[in-house]
Amino acid sequence: MDVEDFRKHGHELIDFIIDCLFSQEKELPNPKVETGYMSKLIPDKAPEDPDEWKDLLKDIQPVILDGITNLHSPNYHGFYPLRSSFPSILGELLRHCFETPTANWMANPAGIELEMNMTNWLGKMLQLPEEFLFDKKRSGGGVILTSASESVCTCLLAARTHTIREVKKTNPNLKDGEIITKLVSYTSAEAHPSVIKAGLISCIEMRIIETDSNGGVNTSALEKAILSDIENGLIPIFVCANLGSTGCCGFDNLNEIGAVCNQHKIWMHIDAAYAGSAFICPEYRYLLDGVELATSFNFNAHKWLEIAPPCSVLWVKNSKLLSEAFPVDLCAENNFDNKDKAPESPAEHIPVYRHWSLQFTRDFKSIKVWFQLRLMGIKALQEIVRTDISMAKLFESLVKEDNRFEIVVPVTLAVVCFRLKGTKKKTKDLLELIRADRRIFMIPSALNGIFFIRFVISSSKTTPKDVHFAWKVIQEKADQLPQQLIE
Ligand code: PLP
Repeated sequence: MDVEDFRKHGHELIDFIIDCLFSQEKELPNPKVETGYMSKLIPDKAPEDPDEWKDLLKDIQPVILDGITNLHSPNYHGFYPLRSSFPSILGELLRHCFETPTANWMANPAGIELEMNMTNWLGKMLQLPEEFLFDKKRSGGGVILTSASESVCTCLLAARTHTIREVKKTNPNLKDGEIITKLVSYTSAEAHPSVIKAGLISCIEMRIIETDSNGGVNTSALEKAILSDIENGLIPIFVCANLGSTGCCGFDNLNEIGAVCNQHKIWMHIDAAYAGSAFICPEYRYLLDGVELATSFNFNAHKWLEIAPPCSVLWVKNSKLLSEAFPVDLCAENNFDNKDKAPESPAEHIPVYRHWSLQFTRDFKSIKVWFQLRLMGIKALQEIVRTDISMAKLFESLVKEDNRFEIVVPVTLAVVCFRLKGTKKKTKDLLELIRADRRIFMIPSALNGIFFIRFVISSSKTTPKDVHFAWKVIQEKADQLPQQLIE
């Protein structure tokens, strides 16, 4: 493909995206394919000679579009939103023109400084305490990672390294492995599985603490577990608090957890993957009260702020906890002649991002943040959050009007957890009917043994009309359940 082909095909692809992808909202949210469908559509090895662009374009519909769950469908109410706005798609396109690693200032001054500025912009939008933002006088700051999973794992590994060093100050003969067996971390039963995975990766026991009936962690149980571990000679190092859990959008009490963590010098990480975006609206900021007690905070801007994935932002109050956790320079000395190497950063407050996380050849993610925030503005983003929550409230009111149903957890953001009154089987059977019908997409969840269906305002195309449509389908399917199941 030469430059002129690129220009021509680029325009054609944008037209294709607009004509095809963004008109798909009228289509069903579920994929249309059977298992193994692709082997009938594509050869089993790469072509020796180049294919034609027009043939590739023609194949996108059957190979790709027919085989994806259509999150753009206004009738998609599954998991959590994953949206890419037009400005952020354009930003994403542009960033691939500069594949300069955003590892350090020496390699990419624009990349480092834009990331610093964008994490500060976002931090201010979320009303994070100043300690989390870049400032010459402080050691806080943000970094753009790929995922909430990467974020919690990075923090847990950093907490592990920090504790090992602290323990060795008084017990220099202890081996790292011996210390690791004594380390413990904690999260709630509502935490995303990625938190459990972080425990597995770091070889640190992750204790699961019970939640209350609203999905928030039981802080007394957390404190009891921590005290009991200390009494047994173990070392609590990390608590992952949740704001907007995946299952029911439950919220932990950060003030209570923070008090316990600070008392016992435990790293408190906050996973606000979905809910974080809501804090750009002042009326939801109360959910973040206590964040000042946290060590780190993360949210996925690629969920509700409509920034093309991946764009997960992690902030820390003390960036040295990350940058000093993984001493890679020692290895680099062996590999390269570093005697005369230029400093990676021109000033102490400019981060060497390759030390902040797993990746070295970091990509230039801040461009799409810059595009999105400049071309949308804060007011429009607040409007998205508010509109979605108002539609969730509309759905909640429809559920409440039908006395066969009940709401399981108070509706805080754009997630409604509801069930048919009575046995679990009723709600399970209802969901099966809805799934077989395929006009709307929802997933089940459970809290403290109560099975329910999650209804999420997920697509940016959903309107109040679609909410009424979804409710009509749900009621229609409830009517079809065998009479003996309905009270
Ligand atoms: N935490 C919460 C609350 C989530 O909802 C999710 C995913 O939806 C995750 C963590 C994992 O996010 P990621 O896929 O970015 O690792």
